[in-house]
Amino acid sequence: MSVSNDIKLDFRDVLIKPRHSSLKSRADVNIVGTFAFSNTTYTWQGVPVVSSNMDTTGTFEMAISLSRHKMLTCIHKHYTVEEWQNFVNDYQEKFSNMDILNYVAVSSGSSDADFLKLQTILQYYNFKFICLDVANGYRDDFMDFIRKVRKTYPEKIIIAGNVVTPEGVKMILDAGANIVKVGIGNGSACATRMKTGIGYPQFSAILECQKIAHDKGGYILSDGGCKDPAEIVKAFGAGADFVMCGGIFAGHKESGGDLVTDAKGQLIKMFYGMSSDTAMQKYAGGVAKYRTSEGLTIKIPYKGEVEKTLLDICGGIRSACTYLNSSNIRELHDNVEFVRVNNIK
Ligand code: 5GP
Repeated sequence: MSVSNDIKLDFRDVLIKPRHSSLKSRADVNIVGTFAFSNTTYTWQGVPVVSSNMDTTGTFEMAISLSRHKMLTCIHKHYTVEEWQNFVNDYQEKFSNMDILNYVAVSSGSSDADFLKLQTILQYYNFKFICLDVANGYRDDFMDFIRKVRKTYPEKIIIAGNVVTPEGVKMILDAGANIVKVGIGNGSACATRMKTGIGYPQFSAILECQKIAHDKGGYILSDGGCKDPAEIVKAFGAGADFVMCGGIFAGHKESGGDLVTDAKGQLIKMFYGMSSDTAMQKYAGGVAKYRTSEGLTIKIPYKGEVEKTLLDICGGIRSACTYLNSSNIRELHDNVEFVRVNNIK
């Protein structure tokens, strides 16, 4: 047994110090980044904000809206092969003037059936991104699965996780991933910390994981815990290359689930963790007796179209860049100086 006495920080434990800036306007900031990957000549250009592969946020409708801002959507793994086929056909017929498919990642579980489904979907369209996602990304069998996917798809960009330590990042990159999902227990619909005591404050997790990822030619995707655009900015500042959000994208027209009126007459959409009772009831017929639900089910007041939220996020990042004399997100990371605070509004 050991206890680390260093204080670890969350986004709400820090603020960013402004500095002299020669940037005149937010319009002078370019938040589109270019990303190269060690295994392929393929590069990706986009705003590195990512919609989570939860079934309420990783929807085809979300991908269409996010792609307009060059943001990535990790499509959830519960769509059927037929639904994927329709999406690709629709894209070719209705949306062929839009570049949507470059902003889509195909998510997969790690069973043999999941792998077969992934292979089938990738036959319909040559999607560049694959997202492999398990709650505990430290498992040997998960490393075997990443290796198998990498062997089958040497050219793809593989996102995999979740881990929160440099050891975990190394394991996942060594197994063949390009982008490591960092974040355990910090999601807005997550109950892992309450049920297991496992977790790591997200700001410190990014700070501590980024170096090894970058030294090894990989990237960090900060997953979860951003409640507003400012926390997305702080994640980039700490060293995240990509920032994945669930709750911020929930409750919109494009989010999964029905729009219903609650007992108080308020329009709402449900948002739930992928390990919640709600999700397990939906996809596994209930919570198996040997496990516990590690997700929450939350009512979200209806927010309308996601476009307003996207503009808010992009505007927040641009504004932060102007406070930091930075014309892009990479410069923001180089120029940022955080201060620890004992409370923020
Ligand atoms: P948010 O942006 O809502 O704070 O966090 C989204 C992230 O929470 C997801 O991308 C995923 O990593 C995590 N997550 C989603 N569902 C669950 C769940 O049921 N349990 C746990 N522990 N994490 C979840």
